[in-house]
Amino acid sequence: SSALSIRQLTKIYDNGFQALHGIDLDVAEGDFFALLGPNGAGKSTTIGILSTLVTKSGGTVNVFGHDLDADPSGLKRCLGVVPQEFNFNQFEKAFDILTTQAGYYGIPLRVAKERAERYLKQLGLWDKRDVPSRMLSGGMKRRLMIARALMHEPRLLILDEPTAGVDIELRRSMWTFLTELNRQGVTIILTTHYLEEAEQLCRNIAIIDHGRIVENTSMRALLQKL
Ligand code: ADP
Ligand code: ADP
Repeated sequence: SSALSIRQLTKIYDNGFQALHGIDLDVAEGDFFALLGPNGAGKSTTIGILSTLVTKSGGTVNVFGHDLDADPSGLKRCLGVVPQEFNFNQFEKAFDILTTQAGYYGIPLRVAKERAERYLKQLGLWDKRDVPSRMLSGGMKRRLMIARALMHEPRLLILDEPTAGVDIELRRSMWTFLTELNRQGVTIILTTHYLEEAEQLCRNIAIIDHGRIVENTSMRALLQKL
């Protein structure tokens, strides 16, 4: 079945700039999918619309059967988003950031604490659990963003340039974590401007440029063409 279905998605910003020109995109359940494109192509705009931070100008978005317009709260429950910018409460401790997030979804505190511990351990952050987020390195914040997006156990996880500015060793450990998550059944979409990252991780790929999808194929077929 379909995890994400986007039809004729358009975005015109308030200054009149058209960032998306009628995007169509389908991602199947269980897929590990890359949205690849240069800076300014429209990747963050697309993700912003999914996370309701950006209002779309036209088109439809559907996540696991939940339409963005008709059922936004249903859509939110099955979607986790890791944006590019850190937006933590600077003074809140890593562990508390996770349990606070779970609270927004009505998850019981006991369950929230179990999940927070599990994800902090899996992501190598357990010894930082009592550190305020502003004291964490960029790579640690990046991992904490991923843990936070997983607290309500979404079926679809979308990450906007998850390894930007992350050193190669940490990048590889994040790849391992995401691959395992996908193996456990979570559908993953990531944006990147590194073909190498998409190649390592993803089965299917769409290439976006100037607000248009210019290629949508399997990773294998793309690599044969290059
Ligand atoms: P929306 O249509 O989703 O409400 P806006 O058009 O109001 O979004 O823009 C949101 C904010 O982003 C505004 O404060 C705007 O000034 C700022 N902004 C303008 N141009 C850019 C740009 N090229 N990149 C990022 N942010 C921008
Ligand atoms: P990407 O994530 O692929 O780098 P973005 O979605 O951030 O691309 O941006 C797509 C285009 O929309 C760019 O030309 C960017 O300058 C423009 N843009 C982004 N945000 C705004 C905004 N708030 N107002 C006006 N233009 C914007």
